Amino acid sequence: MNPLVCADIGIKHPKHWKHGESNNGKETTEYRTWSSIKERCRSNLPHQARWYKSRGIKVCERWLGEDGYVNFLSDMGRRPKDKHSIDRIDSAKGYSPENCRWATWTEQQNNRSNTPRITVDGVTKSLMDWCRQNGLPITTVHNRIRGGWEPARAVTEPSHKRRQLKGGEKFGSWMVEAEAPLHNGNAAMYWCVCECGKRKRVDAYGLVSGHRKRCRSCGMKGAWECRRAKAR
Ligand SMILES: [Zn+2]
Repeated sequence: MNPLVCADIGIKHPKHWKHGESNNGKETTEYRTWSSIKERCRSNLPHQARWYKSRGIKVCERWLGEDGYVNFLSDMGRRPKDKHSIDRIDSAKGYSPENCRWATWTEQQNNRSNTPRITVDGVTKSLMDWCRQNGLPITTVHNRIRGGWEPARAVTEPSHKRRQLKGGEKFGSWMVEAEAPLHNGNAAMYWCVCECGKRKRVDAYGLVSGHRKRCRSCGMKGAWECRRAKAR
């Protein structure tokens, strides 16, 4: 006997389903998932209908009707981990055992019809995959594309974090001397000399973005002079 089917079979009341997973507001995640996919495919609300009803996305017969939830649960099983939600493998097809899986958010983003696919030198990948491969933050790439960059350049060009600086380049009071080991194995660092003669390791991003203009004591001096000027 299916352990999910409780002894109350035969009592038909919306508050008393025979699988016992929706009683007294104590719905399981799987039950909520099942209800929400039905709801979203039925919905006439424009923002939902646009993606489901108008595109002919439906829930299969097997998952509807009286045994709908029990069938859904036995086809899909329990959600493997908290991070998973239900995903359609082919986003042009509906909800059915063949086309559904429990997937993480990242897995789903890679699969979405609105995720741009970008081709670089004949290789096509999703934007997410390119970002991961090239170690670029996704926001950086989004901003670049919004700013009018060619997508292929946006996913390949290193960000400031990894920009190569040359010895002798000047950023504010700092002058770059030589490359230093990466900070936390990630951010590029450079040995720099301040105009006052202080030598320090500075992150490339800070230099390029203008956040690191001078050494700390010069910065303090600047602030002190600024305060004195205000007092006058
Ligand atoms: Zn200084």
